[in-house]
Amino acid sequence: MICIFEHMDLPTKLAILADAAKYDASCASSGAQKKSSRDGRGVGSTGGAGICHSYAPDGRCISLLKILLTNRCLYDCHYCINRRSSNTPRAAFTPEEVVKLTLDFYKRNYIEGLFLSSGIVRSADHTMGRIVEIARTLREVHDFRGYLHLKTIPEASPELTALAAKYADRISINIELPSQRSLDTLAPEKNLLRTTQAMGRIRTLVDEANARRRDGDRKLRHATGQSTQIIVGADASTDSDFLQRSADLYTNYNLRRVYYSAFSPIPSPSSVLPVKAPPLLREHRLYQADWLLRYYGFQANELVGPRQPNLDLRVDPKLGWALANREKFPLPVQTAAREELLRVPGLGVRTVDRLLQIRRHHRIRLEDLARLRVSLDKVRPFLITADYRPPTRLLDDERLIHRLTPRPVQLALF
Ligand code: SF4
Repeated sequence: MICIFEHMDLPTKLAILADAAKYDASCASSGAQKKSSRDGRGVGSTGGAGICHSYAPDGRCISLLKILLTNRCLYDCHYCINRRSSNTPRAAFTPEEVVKLTLDFYKRNYIEGLFLSSGIVRSADHTMGRIVEIARTLREVHDFRGYLHLKTIPEASPELTALAAKYADRISINIELPSQRSLDTLAPEKNLLRTTQAMGRIRTLVDEANARRRDGDRKLRHATGQSTQIIVGADASTDSDFLQRSADLYTNYNLRRVYYSAFSPIPSPSSVLPVKAPPLLREHRLYQADWLLRYYGFQANELVGPRQPNLDLRVDPKLGWALANREKFPLPVQTAAREELLRVPGLGVRTVDRLLQIRRHHRIRLEDLARLRVSLDKVRPFLITADYRPPTRLLDDERLIHRLTPRPVQLALF
């Protein structure tokens, strides 16, 4: 193992610890087209080290310095390049260095906040204590008002977690895998119950802070929510396992987001890992299904279940559900309930809400849908409007799936 962090200069540490942080998907630039600026040229890279983009609670897109405090770790999670047994160059910032980097970058307008995570060194409390110390110094000594996203460690004491929540805007704990069985195989030191217990404590803190805000304490600084990351394709867990776990996290722990991160083979991989990454489309379908759970009133078991444990990669999950439940269509757009319209492929939340307003004033025709930029080809089989009723054979047609999905395109070979 290469241990060289004693006399390492700051740019080298930054290169190692920003690169090591890139595997954490808990920020919204994950999945963006990679544009490398490693040659020192170009602006706006999402693939080069250090800066990522995320969304603040008010919806603004913000740039964050995304780093690890250290990539040393006591744990040996097989899917992680920073695991104890990995032969990767190691580095560690001092808390003062992280504070200085954050303030320097912020003052130069490179970033609007900090996303700080860490490997676990000495103990969970020792590591968490350093993370909290950085956040406290930024907030209390330097009056730093930028965005702070802190990763917390489930095994850290509740007092340190509470302090982290007090200083951060967003707090997260990575659940990593959907079941204890998977953790036992790939992350033997991790415990699902400890993680969910820590999430429960954070939920209580966030709920209390939000209640104080509602009671008029507008200046209260406290995390407004928590999120987590789950790794897809590192073991045999099915989409049903992921979505059932996500539904549990949204319902019982009030998570803001579950980030799905397709497992990517790392240098010097452990032999228990698959050699190939899962198709990125699987991650995309899980995000689509997750969206349906959060905003469209779907239950996880409507999208996946024992008979079909994985999402159909050929179609988006809403279309897949509609094709499997054709007897529920076509729906009269004039009288159908909001929750029914939300299930129509091609209709989003905003469009449905606009349709509910418009139909108070006149009977909805296809041209109203076109004016709302709805794809008529997509909705025609599922809706009845004042001037259109789909022929019965259209919904019964077994080839409907081919009509509603884009034709595969041969990519250039050279
Ligand atoms: S605890 Fe975190 S940093 Fe350490 S090996 Fe596991 S995933 Fe990697």
